[in-house]
This record gives sequence, C-alpha cells and structure tokens, in this order.
Amino acid sequence: MELIIRAPMRYVQFPGALDQTGRYIGEMGRRVLVVCTDGSKKRFGARLDKSLAASGKQACCSSFSGACTLRSVEKATEEYKASGCDMIAGVGGGQTIDTARAAANALGAPLLILPTVASNDAPCSALSILHDEAGAVAEIRVTKRNPDLVLVDTEIIAQSPPRLLSAGMGDALSTFFEARASKASGARNMAGGQCGETALTLARLCYDTLLRCGETALRDAGRKTVTPALEQVVHANIFLSGVGFESGGVAASHAVNDGFSTVPESSRLYHGEIVGFGVLTQLMLEHAPENELSEVLDFMTRVNLPVSFAQLGMEKPSDALLRSVSEAACASPVMKCMPFPVSPEDVRRAMLAADAAGTAFLAQKKTDAPN
Ligand SMILES: [Zn+2]
Repeated sequence: MELIIRAPMRYVQFPGALDQTGRYIGEMGRRVLVVCTDGSKKRFGARLDKSLAASGKQACCSSFSGACTLRSVEKATEEYKASGCDMIAGVGGGQTIDTARAAANALGAPLLILPTVASNDAPCSALSILHDEAGAVAEIRVTKRNPDLVLVDTEIIAQSPPRLLSAGMGDALSTFFEARASKASGARNMAGGQCGETALTLARLCYDTLLRCGETALRDAGRKTVTPALEQVVHANIFLSGVGFESGGVAASHAVNDGFSTVPESSRLYHGEIVGFGVLTQLMLEHAPENELSEVLDFMTRVNLPVSFAQLGMEKPSDALLRSVSEAACASPVMKCMPFPVSPEDVRRAMLAADAAGTAFLAQKKTDAPN
C-alpha cells in the first residue's frame, strides 16, 4: 500500500482571525498580493490592511472578476511580478481561492488562504479548478504545495448566508462515504496515494461532527452567532473534509455531481447540495443498510439539504436528462474509485431510488410532525 497524506502547513481558526492576519503571516512575506473581489475588498479590505500594517506588512489588491480561469490566473501572476510582492493571499470563496492558489503555484510564492464562506472543502487542498470563459470546468490542476496557511475567521463565516454552511455540510457529508469506498477499492486519491487509516478516521470524525453539531450549527448561523457547534462544523467543512477528501479519496458522490454539472438544470445549486444527493445515490449503488440510509436522510433534512429531485428544483426530470447525467457521471474519472464497476444504467436506477427514498422520508417526517 502506498500511503500519501497531504495537508496545509498550518490551519488556524478562531473568531476575529482576520484582525490577526499580519501576526500569523509572520516570516512568510512582507508585501502580500491579495486576490479578492471588489465586494470582499469592501467588506474586509480595511481590517486586513490594518492588521498587516500592525506587523509592518503591506497589501496590494488584485481585483478578481469572480471566475477562476486561465486568464484570471495570468492576471494575478502578472500583477504579482509588477507589484514586487513576495506572497499571495486568496480572500473569498472557492473560485477566488483557486485563482490565488494557481497563481502562487506558477510563481512558487507562499500562499495564505482566508475563506469567507464554509460552503466547500477546497481551502486546505492543493487543487485548483480552472474554468473556460463559458464557465465549464477546463482543468483540474494539482499544485505542488498545499497552502502555507489557512486562516479561518469564524465570525466572518457566521455572517455568510446559512445556505452556504448547509452546502458545505453536503460536501463534507460525502467525505466519509467516498473515503470508505476508495479504501475498499484501493483507488488512488488526489494526493496520488491510497486511503489509509488516518484519512479514513479524519473522514469519520468529519461525519460524526456533522451528525452531532450540524443542526445546531445551522440554527446558530441563522442567528449569525459563533457558538461551539458552529465552530465544530466550520472545522469539519473546511479542515476535516479538506484533508479527508484529498488524502482519502473521491468516488461516486462527486461523480454524480460531475454528471449534474453538465446540465443547465443544476446551475442554481451549490456544489455541496448536488454532492449531498450524490451521497444518497452512492448509498443506493452500495446497497447500504437501511439504518445508514435513514441516518443520512435524517441528517440531510435537518440541515436543509435537498433529498429529492423536487427539492433539487427538478421535479419529474425527463428520462433524457437522467440518462445524460448518468452518462456524464460514469465518464468522471472518480467513478472508477468505487470498489465495483458502475454503469450509467446503475447510476440512473440509483438516482431514482435515492429520489424515492428521499421523497418517502419527507412524507413520513411531515406525518410525524406535531400539528
Ligand atoms: Zn466537493
């Protein structure tokens, strides 16, 4: 067995972390090219500048368009060279972070990631997903290093829309089931090795944390309050799921997401929301025991994750749509990480079974609810 684990050099998380950025950067650099949207600059720029200045550092802003493309990476790379910066920071959501990461990789520059949402597990990883100008995925780039520092300010995350935290839980929900499948198949993970006990244990801890704290964390996020439950879930969504998927493995849940991402019907959904439905589909493919399926359905409905086609905004999807998604899911390389062969017909049937189970669960929940 070839065991490989990848992780960020340092992971720091606490309320108000943004105001300590300069202190945590330390010797990493003095002039920081900050990749962020104009909206993020408005919200966080002054505090970041103040924190850097207090440590004798300076920020140069690289205005980000909102899409991680070859062009946006080149733009950040050129601005870095022109401004005499000696490190890069990505402040924002997934695409901002991926742009900063790809630029830092091209330049060999130290990298700080400061996620402002907890909607996915990308911040800790070494992957950048580059899009073409039309928005389709053009390249998944594995960078040489994971971030030197991931700094998570839970106060900022608590201010973001609760739906984003919920989506992050959908992404994090897949981590254990995909690591388990990858361990069973012996498939190569994103780090190029195989899933060992460490990654599987982190993935299990991620799942247990979601079950224990997810519902409370979502309630607290609705009140924009940092609580222990919210802190635990942010840690699960960003760190445990990030290291868990990269060193554990990705399988059918993400392959189903890749399938859905080829159809316009999914454009209003977040990555984690589709991945959540991918988990249900994977459990159907695996013929998972009834108690595991109901545990997952119970969790998903408690944290507002869609469990049926209707909740995904695709009431009664056509057979053509389901076939197209199934074909694309099986064309995704990560489907091959499952411990058994999976055909498009298997995926189509599993998605229908997932929808039926989700719909029945919702109906039962409605019946059980006190009037
Ligand atoms: Zn994901």
